[in-house]
Amino acid sequence: MSRRSWLKNIAVVAVAAALPAGAASAAAEGGKEKKLAKSAVHYQDRPNAGKMCGMCRYFLPAGGMVGHGMMGPQMMAEGSCQVVEGRISSMGYCDLYTPI
Ligand code: SF4
Repeated sequence: MSRRSWLKNIAVVAVAAALPAGAASAAAEGGKEKKLAKSAVHYQDRPNAGKMCGMCRYFLPAGGMVGHGMMGPQMMAEGSCQVVEGRISSMGYCDLYTPI
């Protein structure tokens, strides 16, 4: 496990620890049952120092796409996230950002 992956896992555990028991286990498993609230991970609708949902491994574009990244029509699209609830902007950002 790389240092970056380890740090991200620690961030997920730290956020999950602040939530009810059911949400914590779901978050650790990638949100199959219940996702984290935007407020819990400090979600924002704008990038943070060039980091954005469209470049995060957890982002799920609404219409699907081949690959991730900044180029193409998906750049400005909304979608969803594997670990955070609600509609997610590809230009958004949160504490759990994990680059592809
Ligand atoms: S930055 Fe946060 S909200 Fe955006 S895709 Fe990644 S984990 Fe989900």
